[in-house]
Amino acid sequence: MSISENIANLRERIASAAHRAGRHPQEIALMAITKTVAVESIREAHDAGIRLFGENRVQEFDAKSGHLELAGAESHMIGHLQSNKANRAAQLFDAIDSVDSLRLARKLNAAALELDKKLSVLVEINIGGEAAKTGIAAESNELDELLQAAPELSALEFRGLMAVPPYHDDPEDSRSYFRDMRRLFAKLSNQNFPGIEMKTLSMGMSHDFEIAIEEGSTCVRIGTAIFGERNK
Ligand SMILES: *Cc1c(COP(=O)(O)O)cnc(C)c1O
Repeated sequence: MSISENIANLRERIASAAHRAGRHPQEIALMAITKTVAVESIREAHDAGIRLFGENRVQEFDAKSGHLELAGAESHMIGHLQSNKANRAAQLFDAIDSVDSLRLARKLNAAALELDKKLSVLVEINIGGEAAKTGIAAESNELDELLQAAPELSALEFRGLMAVPPYHDDPEDSRSYFRDMRRLFAKLSNQNFPGIEMKTLSMGMSHDFEIAIEEGSTCVRIGTAIFGERNK
């Protein structure tokens, strides 16, 4: 199957999952995750209509982005970002979807101010409470502190939440985590934090995106199902 066939196929599956949940397919954005993917393949995805791209390493995207001219597209950082790479990330990306501390948010804000640029951000939640994963704990002071700091971080536009739940072979087993994310998203939306517009709930990957959509995802992040298995 070609990349464009994979994308057409995914769009159908996204639409079916949306309909099962009584949702509109347009509510769900399809982000292509391009880690380890060659620039030719990224161009193919762009030609097939993808306008949202995600990478999880600053250095890799730094090397590739010079060879990519993706008209009308947005590139998002979706992997763990070390503070010492915040400056470069703020230059390279349109959005950072993996903000997981107030410290990192401050660094990104300073970098974006310097660049005279607005940077969209999502707060990454460690929804499974896994020690090995990044992200802020769902019900924590750290999360509250970060959200309350939004008005002073004037170069950052807080748009919502991202999560990678614990991996399960059977995606049905991830449903409760996606549901917890939707509840947290709704709760934080209702709290109306100044300077925060909760509109994106980024969750769901190749093997579990349909469940994530049924549970309220507004952005699915798909690598393998578009580009094939990654070479390790
Ligand atoms: C790699 C990655 C994805 C895509 O994973 P696939 O299983 O290949 O679809 C999504 N989100 C994050 C944070 C990733 O690192």
